[in-house]
Amino acid sequence: MATQNVPVDMDDTTFQTAANRATGEGKTISQVVAEFLMQYAEGASAGTMTTYTVKRGDSLSRIAARFYGNARKYPIIQRANNISNPSRIWIGQVLVIPPVGDSPTTPTTPPPPAPPPPTPPRPTPISTPIVPTATPSVPSPTPAPGGGPQKPSIRWTGSPHFNNRRRPDDITAIVIHSTANDSLEGVINWFNNPNAKVSAHFTIGKDGQIAQHVQDMHRAWHAGRSVWKGRNSCNDYTLGIELVNLNNGADPYPDAQHQANVALCAYLAHKYNISVDDIMGHLDIALPPGRKSDPRGYDLDRLRNDVAAVLGRR
Ligand SMILES: [Zn+2]
Repeated sequence: MATQNVPVDMDDTTFQTAANRATGEGKTISQVVAEFLMQYAEGASAGTMTTYTVKRGDSLSRIAARFYGNARKYPIIQRANNISNPSRIWIGQVLVIPPVGDSPTTPTTPPPPAPPPPTPPRPTPISTPIVPTATPSVPSPTPAPGGGPQKPSIRWTGSPHFNNRRRPDDITAIVIHSTANDSLEGVINWFNNPNAKVSAHFTIGKDGQIAQHVQDMHRAWHAGRSVWKGRNSCNDYTLGIELVNLNNGADPYPDAQHQANVALCAYLAHKYNISVDDIMGHLDIALPPGRKSDPRGYDLDRLRNDVAAVLGRR
């Protein structure tokens, strides 16, 4: 059956309001955010907004039939998702389903033909997660023969908190965060908690273990209101990497963790042709300036230099 997600991009739409309310009401941001998320969840279950993840065998008309009880209402979904060719949807694509009450009326003449069932135009990464590695190992930034840096060991853990990039290949920068907690497993659990509505693509534990929560081609929810080099909404075009750290300025980032980050950033920078200068911290992009301090105490210049050395770019 269909799974329905609550499409709350907490980072983009809620955080600033939460921060303002926290100041006004003398609460912590966490308290206010938790209240917000409950409100959003209630609103969604009341039918104000829904998303749907395309499954094998779906077509827009079938989805319209499922949500609206009328296959001919599929143009509502088509328009809401800027889909030019209704037969071009793919497994794993997340569609916004507008509420029925707000829907434009169905075109009456002529009734458009139902689109054919979709053929997945590309592999379906959701259903083929990266095979977990049996033994945690500190990834090595050793260059692979004949190409870029070797892919480090990555454990796929998943998270439901993502949506589609406008273009799957729009990946031009990397944002480094710290988790403000002390455990990789805690992060994995939180990013899988339906109440969290936050995620990142990767988290690196203090021992250098790398977990992946969201596929690169998808848009994880880590940056919030943000800007980099004049372009807003950094979630649209970045990969997010979390470092397990208390973010108090005193908690160290062990060398195993740093080396894993170097290996991961070098691998990703090579794969997506990302400039080393476009590896930055959350604090560098958050709006308004000063909203974020992470990754506090982490030497981003050293990271950029070490990545550049692996890539041979400097
Ligand atoms: Zn952050």
